[in-house]
Amino acid sequence: MSEDNILEVHNLKKYFPIRSGIFASTKGVMVKAVDDISFNVKRGETVGLVGETGSGKTTVGRTIIRLYDPTEGQVIFEGIDIASLSEKEMNKVRRRLQMIFQDPYASLDPRLTVEEIVTEPMEIHNLYNTKQERRERAAYILNLLGLNPEHLSRFPHEFSGGQRQRIGLARALAVEPEFIICDEPVSALDVSIQAQIINTFEDLQDEFNLTYLFISHDLAMVKHISDEVIVMYLGKIMEIAPSKEIYDKPLHPYTQALNSAVPIPDPVVEKKRERIILEGDISSNINLPTGCRFNPRCKYTMNICKEKEPQLLEVSAGHKVACYLYNK
Ligand code: SF4
Repeated sequence: MSEDNILEVHNLKKYFPIRSGIFASTKGVMVKAVDDISFNVKRGETVGLVGETGSGKTTVGRTIIRLYDPTEGQVIFEGIDIASLSEKEMNKVRRRLQMIFQDPYASLDPRLTVEEIVTEPMEIHNLYNTKQERRERAAYILNLLGLNPEHLSRFPHEFSGGQRQRIGLARALAVEPEFIICDEPVSALDVSIQAQIINTFEDLQDEFNLTYLFISHDLAMVKHISDEVIVMYLGKIMEIAPSKEIYDKPLHPYTQALNSAVPIPDPVVEKKRERIILEGDISSNINLPTGCRFNPRCKYTMNICKEKEPQLLEVSAGHKVACYLYNK
């Protein structure tokens, strides 16, 4: 493992058995939510993971943190393969590896006060000696997040969506993590609040030297916050590149289509731009297209695209793409 990397994912697969619908009784038929992906995350950086619903991006986050057990592959966190740890061993790692969920309404226990929500993980991980010390730590973090220590005695329903997401963030930060997986952390919030929360994420990264895996369907958001962007489609990585290159020079036809939907803040340029509309919906990851998974929606499809799956190969420093237009 490279010293620069805090996380390395090698050949990760997560398949789910089908328990309902027409394939339910068909032995061996699986949903291939994540199908053999590899990537690294450097310490102190933000990697964005982007794709449509059904791309597998959320499953990647949940499998890394072991809410799901991987079907195959390695997840190396700070030199340890956490994919093979027991639940007890994994609990020790979870202090350093936290996850923030999409829905700030559902992710906080409505029966607990903010103090209980934020201090509970400290108790679980035996951090700080007394209740008073844990309370002071909770108040300190809330203050950093623009909330008041008086909020400690209140319940989640007394807060707005943006405030609840800050409380979720405070809970994650309470145990001094090094790596936070953020799963669509602002998509349930008003647009006016989203930018504030994203700025908070950026400020906290500097304050606590955090590393983020930032999962979102919104390429504009991901590009803004990320050093590097991974584009997923039907359980596979289509492209990995530094954020600026994804914006200036996207290579994969799928990334180009996502990119064309990102508004440019210059009305003259924006007016001249061609918007690429993808035909059809994302295919089923039960019955995957043969060859390139994107071929039913790609306007450049060649014969080989329907026969053989393209490999993710480096085409320039730090820029990888899985497409026969570049990998002949
Ligand atoms: Fe399109 Fe072929 Fe590239 Fe797939 S491999 S994105 S079908 S050109």
